[in-house]
Amino acid sequence: MTAPVLEVRDLVMVYGEGDARVRALRGVSLTVEKGDYVAIMGASGSGKSTLMNILGCLDVPTSGAYLVDGTDVGALNEKQLAILRNRKIGFVFQSFNLIPRMSALANVELPMAYGGVGAAERRARALAALEQVGLSDRIHHEPNELSGGQQQRVAVARALVTSPALLLADEPTGNLDSRSTEDVLEILDGLSASGRTIVIITHEDDVAAHAKRVVRLVDGRIVEDRRQAPAEGLPPRMAVRKSTMTGTMTGTMTGTMTGTAADTAAGAEAAG
Ligand code: ADP
Ligand code: MG
Repeated sequence: MTAPVLEVRDLVMVYGEGDARVRALRGVSLTVEKGDYVAIMGASGSGKSTLMNILGCLDVPTSGAYLVDGTDVGALNEKQLAILRNRKIGFVFQSFNLIPRMSALANVELPMAYGGVGAAERRARALAALEQVGLSDRIHHEPNELSGGQQQRVAVARALVTSPALLLADEPTGNLDSRSTEDVLEILDGLSASGRTIVIITHEDDVAAHAKRVVRLVDGRIVEDRRQAPAEGLPPRMAVRKSTMTGTMTGTMTGTMTGTAADTAAGAEAAG
């Protein structure tokens, strides 16, 4: 039995003091197993970003325990924390957060520069990640030469190029039109099908429908934890597509879809 990718126990987060005191998280416990795809939902102010920042090791809770891949985050010093963040977690933000005036390729290579990966291997892995998000023909473009959807696909490539244990996304489609939203969700579905563990924050039902599990926050507490698909199966949207197809079609299609995603991921892994 391997350790859960992510385990939090009784997380409490209090901001400010006295009259300005805000209890943003009031005892959140959550376990995410390898291969799961979890959507965290909730109204504005319910504590989603606070939780996200703790899960991403960007902030430290007031109290409670947090383990990533079996490692107790609370026991790490700053340097160890930075290493854990770099190796174990891939981030995707609403506002893309790409480095301006740097090509897509250079942006995707960046996280590996801190990880001690050689130049040739950095290049190979970045190219594979960009291919996985369908941007092989845009590798030399800078962020301002790309559409929002393309920028977010670069950000997804950057997040997965280190083969992180966890892909953490905060409203990744919040700034995208519906067409680009579909593109990004399809990529996440493919990553999920190839075994990636994904936690996504969203307030959109359409986005959460892609996840295997939906966790709902109200006022800093989990009020609902609902499974939509088995943790180790296909994400719901892909499972639906599969069940609507028949006979040999099913075998061929799912074989191709998961095969492609898995092969690319395996390629990135093998390169690492
Ligand atoms: P969400 O992302 O769901 O909108 P947040 O986690 O950003 O919610 O915020 C939860 C609560 O904590 C809100 O009441 C917010 O005003 C408060 N809050 C968030 N960050 C801070 C901060 N740095 N200082 C003080 N209060 C904060
Ligand atoms: Mg927020």
